[in-house]
Amino acid sequence: MIAQAKIILKDIFGYDEFRPLQQEVIENVLHKKDTLCIMPTGGGKSLCYQIPALLFEGLTIVVSPLISLMEDQVKQLDALGIEAIMLNSSLSANEYQSNIQRIRQNKVRLLYLAPETLLMERTLALLASQKVACFTIDEAHCISEWGHDFRPEYRQLMDLRKRFPEAACLALTATATQRVQEDIRRSLNFEASASFVASFNRENLFLAIKQKSQPAQQTLSFLEKFPDQSGIIYCLSRKQVDEMAEFLEDEGYSVKPYHAGLATEVRQQNQASFIRDDTQIMVATIAFGMGINKPNVRFILHFDLPGNIESYYQQIGRAGRDGLRADCLFLFGYGDIRKIKYFIQQKNESEQIIASTQLNALIGFAETEDCRRLPLLKYFGEAYSEPNCGMCDNCLNEDQTAVDVTIAAQQFLSCVKHSREIFGAGHIIDILRGSKSQKIKKFAHHDLSTYGIGLDWSKQQWFYLSRHFVQKGLLDQDLQHGSLKLTPKAWEVLRGNQSISAKINQQSETRSRPKIVQKYDSSLFEILRQVRKIIADKNQVPPYVIFPDKTLIEMAIYFPQSEDNLMPLHGVGAVKYAKYGDPFMRAIADYCQVNQLTETPKAGRGSGSSSKKIGRSRYQVVGEKYNEGSTVLQLAKEFKVKNQTIFDHLYKYSCAGNTLRPSNDFLEISQLSPEQQQTVSAAFQEFGTGALRPVYEALQEEVGYEELKIIRLHCLTEELKKTS
Ligand code: ADP
Ligand code: ZN
Repeated sequence: MIAQAKIILKDIFGYDEFRPLQQEVIENVLHKKDTLCIMPTGGGKSLCYQIPALLFEGLTIVVSPLISLMEDQVKQLDALGIEAIMLNSSLSANEYQSNIQRIRQNKVRLLYLAPETLLMERTLALLASQKVACFTIDEAHCISEWGHDFRPEYRQLMDLRKRFPEAACLALTATATQRVQEDIRRSLNFEASASFVASFNRENLFLAIKQKSQPAQQTLSFLEKFPDQSGIIYCLSRKQVDEMAEFLEDEGYSVKPYHAGLATEVRQQNQASFIRDDTQIMVATIAFGMGINKPNVRFILHFDLPGNIESYYQQIGRAGRDGLRADCLFLFGYGDIRKIKYFIQQKNESEQIIASTQLNALIGFAETEDCRRLPLLKYFGEAYSEPNCGMCDNCLNEDQTAVDVTIAAQQFLSCVKHSREIFGAGHIIDILRGSKSQKIKKFAHHDLSTYGIGLDWSKQQWFYLSRHFVQKGLLDQDLQHGSLKLTPKAWEVLRGNQSISAKINQQSETRSRPKIVQKYDSSLFEILRQVRKIIADKNQVPPYVIFPDKTLIEMAIYFPQSEDNLMPLHGVGAVKYAKYGDPFMRAIADYCQVNQLTETPKAGRGSGSSSKKIGRSRYQVVGEKYNEGSTVLQLAKEFKVKNQTIFDHLYKYSCAGNTLRPSNDFLEISQLSPEQQQTVSAAFQEFGTGALRPVYEALQEEVGYEELKIIRLHCLTEELKKTS
């Protein structure tokens, strides 16, 4: 059975391999065993029931809490040519009836329902007459009161299960906490062996945290890295969302706000516009994200503190579902912490304890100098043992050696002391760097001995250092006011009894970003995106339903123009090929024609040849074919071009450092007499083959450039090169 599952994976979904645990889960389900599948967002949960649904004889029911999620799934399945429908309150009476009709006629493989709909008597009556093969509960954490979105109707699902005794039961969720997992198992009467828990490490997410110093500037310079790419900016308050959206709009960005204060229609419009790639950036409160399946979100910016580590993880999880690299930046401000502390103080005592613990975990995560994945995964009970993930700011800093910053520490600490331990890092840095701010004047801090002594470090470096000193226990920070105070340990440093070192980023900002994506033709990618957008709009679906970005990237690597070359690409199954292949191949062919590029087959799995090869230029292919024995005339015919074009290709090929096979082709095609040919050859020997003009002039302009090019090639062939 699993062999068939693999065939479906490739033929219908167009994917080469299963993601971790998909195969195990599918196997379990195919054996009709209870299965609890816990995978992070983007882990590929949907395939775990969609593939069995295609292999089972009966119907697969999928319970889903949100209409938007159901719609999205049905659209995606529809594009793949899979019969899937939904029953919910968003349908008109006619649509509803026609869907029921299709179920009765056994035409449906997957049926998506909200729990309320499923619990209705008429639905149950309908299903009683059906053979139900699999009962799938998506977002299964909704069953648990401990989960973040408990849905009472989910509680009744366990009774319902008994109505389908023959059906496999599959529960799926991205919630990792033990408590919720156990709750789901208990509610559904699953054995412990039913659980499949994938790693929560999202390898393709680059995690970075920066001290929030100039938030607007930091936001803009972050966004600069993602021209035209989708992303989400999370802010804490509605007001901040509106301000940020306005600010970015003024800066020329395509952006829409999203928060609970907007009218429902406006929210829906903005969300739809983002999903369809009509809007690049969503500025949102945490209200945004549930029910979004957009796989090509390339960045998440946390402009404010997330509520806790779990919500941070959930929010960054919305990026990079397609498995391609996505960047997550968290602007961490001590000022924001003070605000949160204030809110916490308004709560009752037991809430205060929980909230403070969560906040401290978040601060620990932000301040760690270890790999970011360590505390993050630890929070979910997962041990992470890689020495260097290569995908977080700290691991990239790893190669920086620690430098001695004892003097900087002494300067900073004594400045804190002289200004009487009532100021935050920003003001201390202003003193050290000799700022002329009002505040300095007001407190006469330009009279301090530490005024202006810290010009060796930039403001940003000082911020980093101040954070480092707090972390090293030299300073205590008052979380309410942000002021810094010396600890006993600080005195050891001031007295010169202890030295301090830090891995400080000397180059600051512009470190090269590691790339997961291989090299591709970005101009072609843009063209293909437009082709996709037109098809998507015509079909009223989001662009990713047509093809994911990864497919377009592979098109821009291999330039496929035939079924043989398009079908092996990621995300291209038989139905999608037939439905959408043509316009893409046409666009690629046009592009290749203009840019003289040629298609290369994507190396199949295990064939051993490098799949990293990027599309080779036409001249290379022509040159190689010539050297393998094709004549100029044959090549011209094969590529449907003039002889002259082949000559140009061969000349380029030779200039690229390749030798050309000796042949009589050139002299035979040339219209010159044998004597003239000899004279021209001699001129090339004398003036070299680099430029035509000297030869043209030396021959009294009697031989045209076309002819010169032919003889030049003759001179460049292997034999003549050796003798010259
Ligand atoms: P989840 O529900 O776990 O968040 P999805 O089922 O939406 O994840 O899958 C995320 C994305 O990954 C989708 O675009 C899906 O098509 C893709 N995907 C799933 N399985 C694979 C696979 N084996 N190979 C490549 N892409 C996959
Ligand atoms: Zn790391």
